[in-house]
Amino acid sequence: MSLSSDFIGELLQRNHAWADRTDKTNPDLFARNAKGQSPQILWIGCSDSRAGEGCLDLLPGDVFVHRNIANLLPYNDLSSLSVVQFAVDVLKVKHIVICGHYECGGAIASLGSKRLGLLDNWLRNLRDVRAKHKDELEMIPDFHERLNRFIELNVIHQVHNVKKLVPVIDAIAEGRLQVHGLVYDVANGRLKPIDVPDDPHVEHYHLAEDDGDLE
Ligand SMILES: [Zn+2]
Repeated sequence: MSLSSDFIGELLQRNHAWADRTDKTNPDLFARNAKGQSPQILWIGCSDSRAGEGCLDLLPGDVFVHRNIANLLPYNDLSSLSVVQFAVDVLKVKHIVICGHYECGGAIASLGSKRLGLLDNWLRNLRDVRAKHKDELEMIPDFHERLNRFIELNVIHQVHNVKKLVPVIDAIAEGRLQVHGLVYDVANGRLKPIDVPDDPHVEHYHLAEDDGDLE
């Protein structure tokens, strides 16, 4: 996209052309979306401009989306936690997809040691993944292979993180939700499934409604 003198005018032109095209190929879509949404998928991905949910080739209304730097789900991040709760409890999505991507800038930064300011606090979550897998990562001599493995390990950790959230625990127990890990390759546009091992610590996060006194 060029730095046009009429930036908004150019955006509106593109938008109107897209809306006309979409309406032609999916005549009921906008009327249906005007009445509400019932997406089946919650997509949790990176903010990276190259790695959005557009790669699914789905339509407006199909995917509920949360994106942040390095597709993280920290237990103290009100924004992503609210998205998950709304998607699972209210929209009743059937699938949560955690999607990382190769060449992720957040992951590259977290393998290095340069100060970035405020961002360092966010990337701390990724540094924790790096620290947990220090031995495995240091065994990989090639930087890109190490980076790719780190990105995949982060997806595994974020799948484990989302599966520790109460709404997700309940929905999985009720058999109405699955959580998946994927990595998107910015070099060829393809998604790759990540084999996510069971989290050995997950039972420590299962909370009962009433577990007696707090003593
Ligand atoms: Zn990224």
